Amino acid sequence: MSALDQQLIPIFEEVLGRNPGEAEFHQAVREVLESLGPVVTKHPQYADSAVIRRLCEPERQIIFRVPWVTDSGKIEVNRGFRVEFNSALGPFKGGLRFHPSVNLGIVKFLGFEQIFKNSLTGLPIGGGKGGSDFDPKGRSDAEVMRFCQSFMTELYRHLGEYTDVPAGDIGVGGREIGFMFGQYKRITNRYESGTLTGKGLSWGGSQVRTEATGYGTVFFVDEMLKAAGDSFDGKRVVVSGSGNVAIYAIEKVHQLGGTVVACSDSGGYVVDPAGIDLALLKEIKNGQRGRISEYAARRGNDVAHVADGSIWDVPCDIALPCATQNELDLEGAGALISNGCRIVAEGANMPTTPNAARLLTEAAVRFAPAKAVNAGGVATSALEMQQNASRDSWTFAHTEERLAEIMRGIHDRCLETADEYGTPGSYVAGANIAGFTRVADAMLALGVI
Ligand code: GLU
Repeated sequence: MSALDQQLIPIFEEVLGRNPGEAEFHQAVREVLESLGPVVTKHPQYADSAVIRRLCEPERQIIFRVPWVTDSGKIEVNRGFRVEFNSALGPFKGGLRFHPSVNLGIVKFLGFEQIFKNSLTGLPIGGGKGGSDFDPKGRSDAEVMRFCQSFMTELYRHLGEYTDVPAGDIGVGGREIGFMFGQYKRITNRYESGTLTGKGLSWGGSQVRTEATGYGTVFFVDEMLKAAGDSFDGKRVVVSGSGNVAIYAIEKVHQLGGTVVACSDSGGYVVDPAGIDLALLKEIKNGQRGRISEYAARRGNDVAHVADGSIWDVPCDIALPCATQNELDLEGAGALISNGCRIVAEGANMPTTPNAARLLTEAAVRFAPAKAVNAGGVATSALEMQQNASRDSWTFAHTEERLAEIMRGIHDRCLETADEYGTPGSYVAGANIAGFTRVADAMLALGVI
């Protein structure tokens, strides 16, 4: 870990003391604070107004029981969360994650990250996150529907297009958003499209929202390459994961002339030297909700499935961790460096451990953090809200161009801000500082609330 500025140490200690046991939340806060030393030195008003301490404390945290009945008549009890972290820039905005690992600390880390990510997009959205420890794996559509209805029966009272607007995250895609929107509509008796994003195209969704996080990630990397006079042409890329972010990152890399040679799920990874066959991957993952091992079985001899091992051992020029938090550790970073990887960009939220990020930076691997790289998902959610508010729907081409423009803007803002604060080339410092100053200035303007 890097040292914290003297002024920031008591703030971090307060976060540790007040949120015991929430390791991921501590990690996310620390990573932002490590970048803010030059900011508090240059602008004492941030310390004077306690704006950083206020930012570290969520505006509101909601925890609730989610009881539901399985197909066989058994009663299950899950826990639901919504952390409404910061609404200085707009309504709380951020996804819902359904995964057995979800707890308050995970939701707080994601919500905290979301504040700065959303701020970086330049769009009017605050930060929040939610979810449940419900595991959709192996559950029937009817079970998922009953769970989503029970979840929304509590959550609806906290939502609204001007209040809090959830979307998807791990374990929450179009099917779950549909069930939740249906229940919201039924309970409130309002067709309030702008209350959830990631909706289906025929009922208020936006073109490109499904693809946006993966596409945006690759647009960001394309800007990193262009800034160095390079391109995706001929690049070998490793993408971890095989969910929504990974699939559309793979698609865009292939469109831009690179080759994705490996991807993974929790059961291992596959190496396909000719390039991942995306149609097959989509069929297995989206169509059948199957496992990546089936991909290797169906592709035949040239494709290896490795059940025990690390995807970061696969040689590549560019690595895109697109699975989950802390999936790229020190060992993984070491392997990437030895194999000549030049760029690591985070498609998932906080997938790189602090030690791994430091090792990569020391080895002059260009490293770009999630809050900048994967902001295209939430940015396109904001475009969906814009379309809902104006009762309009844009074409795919127009929406994708808006996304590309937003990603260019975020990329350039990161580099300009890093220059301004004396850390040229640091996407981490640039993203943290640019994300922070926009939200902090809004908080100052709005008074102590
Ligand atoms: N879950 C996504 C994220 O991590 C998207 C959130 C949204 O669209 O509100 O940014």
